Amino acid sequence: MNLVEKMMPNLFTLEHELDGMQVRGAIVLGNTRAMIWDTLIYPEQMQAVLDICGNRELIIVYSHGDWDHVWGTCTLPYQKVIGHKRCKARFDDPDDVAKTLKDYQAKYSALINIHLVAPTETFEDRLELDLGSLTVELCHLPGHTLDGIVAFIPELGTLLVGDACETPLPLVYEDSPLSQWITALENWQKNPRVKTVIPSHGPTGNLDLVKNTTAYLKAVKDENPIVLPDLDEFYQAAHEKNKSIAPHLP
Ligand SMILES: [Zn+2]
Repeated sequence: MNLVEKMMPNLFTLEHELDGMQVRGAIVLGNTRAMIWDTLIYPEQMQAVLDICGNRELIIVYSHGDWDHVWGTCTLPYQKVIGHKRCKARFDDPDDVAKTLKDYQAKYSALINIHLVAPTETFEDRLELDLGSLTVELCHLPGHTLDGIVAFIPELGTLLVGDACETPLPLVYEDSPLSQWITALENWQKNPRVKTVIPSHGPTGNLDLVKNTTAYLKAVKDENPIVLPDLDEFYQAAHEKNKSIAPHLP
């Protein structure tokens, strides 16, 4: 699986797959620079971005530090790697990003050549990138994880949401700041400039994706019933876990 899709003249998506789990990154092309939104799983498959980016300077941005978003960096000729301050802290913690990679490498020999690349530049609340003809607004959105960020490209009306929104449902963790997550998504819902929403998992769409995730999070937080489609084993387990954790989260 190495599915490159041209969504707009200067926006591509790229998908990788491991164990039936699919993850999506994006490539945004400005005149002089390209942003690679997550490097996904396989360094060798990330080479596909080089053809798309041509001789533009490569700026890699991590939506967050979870394993399926950050492993493909090591063979790319990047100029810098940007992540939230907490994302860098996760790379510095031997029990977090590094341990997960070790655990997977013990199980899958195809992953043995991966070495981690931590963010070389971090920010706290907001950072604006100038790609030449396009700008990207990176905004902290703690929710699924504390180091989560989203990227808005105003000229394209496109919001890259990482794992902050997911269909059929997002994954809530024991340290997810749920109220903050919900408030941030509600604010994006009110933003008329957002036309296209691209999550890392599940179908791409529009602000309905944000609305649906928000409604789901509110329902599990308040222990209200919610109508869901038929869930596969993975999402059924995630839903049960979400329901048990969410009511107790801040
Ligand atoms: Zn993910």
